[in-house]
Amino acid sequence: MKDKDIAALVRPNILSLAPYSTARDEYKGKLGIFIDANESPYDTGWNRYPDPRQTALKAKIAPIKGVAPSNIFLGNGSDEAIDLVYRVFCVPGRDNVVAIVPSYGMYTVSAAINDVEVREVALGEDFSLDVEKLLAATDANTKAIFLCSPNNPSGNSFPRAQIEAVLTRFRGIVVVDEAYIDFSPEESLLKVLGDYPNLLVLQTFSKAWGLAALRLGLAFASEFIIGIMSNVKYPYNINESTQRLALEALSSPIDERVEEIKSEREILSGMLPGYSFVEKVYPSDANFILVKVRDADELYNHLILDGIIVRNRTRVRGCANCLRITVGTKYENIQLLKSLNEYEKGNIRR
Ligand SMILES: *Cc1c(COP(=O)(O)O)cnc(C)c1O
Repeated sequence: MKDKDIAALVRPNILSLAPYSTARDEYKGKLGIFIDANESPYDTGWNRYPDPRQTALKAKIAPIKGVAPSNIFLGNGSDEAIDLVYRVFCVPGRDNVVAIVPSYGMYTVSAAINDVEVREVALGEDFSLDVEKLLAATDANTKAIFLCSPNNPSGNSFPRAQIEAVLTRFRGIVVVDEAYIDFSPEESLLKVLGDYPNLLVLQTFSKAWGLAALRLGLAFASEFIIGIMSNVKYPYNINESTQRLALEALSSPIDERVEEIKSEREILSGMLPGYSFVEKVYPSDANFILVKVRDADELYNHLILDGIIVRNRTRVRGCANCLRITVGTKYENIQLLKSLNEYEKGNIRR
């Protein structure tokens, strides 16, 4: 696909949009007397509007991710980027997207907010992807396919060849949510960004980087797509404190913490099948483990009464009696195992 094919997917009103031009867009110098933006002249530390293009932050992120700043969009969480996919590409009440089930709930919620139909394609019993089934769900009004790999809540990654088959065969936007890529042995699709003009990769600083409270999500795509998303976003979508604190946090490497989580994940994955009430421990490339148990509601309540909160996914399609357990610190994981030991002995809290 070429940029002109991508342009044909964009809503006409968005393609012709004249974006808001901020004072800081018009004059980029740093020194001078700034009486252009109706800010307070008194230095509170926060009296100036933040950089609407997040130039310094993108320059810091680019080498970490191995992409050019012009291929990076920063959002108020990945959730902003997800919402923008709908606002940029989908005409409300007409267009649709295809998403896998079970997967991240925001794809569906954001679609509903934007009055866009989601065609849900169920994953296999082992959460595997059927590419033919996925493509068969698309039609002329399908603007995007949402994939999440490693997938939340199942934890598995989809084979690279399958994702690239979707990218090649679907003539629309393929969103690949890599929120958990740092915990995965699979390689990120960022390496092939240049090969697929219809690829949009989502990542976040909320998980491996430990910055969920800052609300900083990333989208990577062609310069053309990033340009359009930037036109549609709120001008100052990333506030100054987030930009400053993220710049600082990105100087500390996360490798050790990520290795620790992966090692704890393997320990937990090894222990959990030993319990009689555990029916299946799904393999995980992420920082959580999906576990099928005898009675998810009963175990969920037992854990709550022990002060341990996991995510009960039993009412999600394909996840009957499943709990999703985030890998914690060694101490937290031991507390979890102690509580599971009591449950196993029949000391069930109710
Ligand atoms: C946690 C998560 C995100 C991150 O969302 P933010 O808005 O960046 O915090 C994105 N996608 C998936 C699948 C997730 O599980």
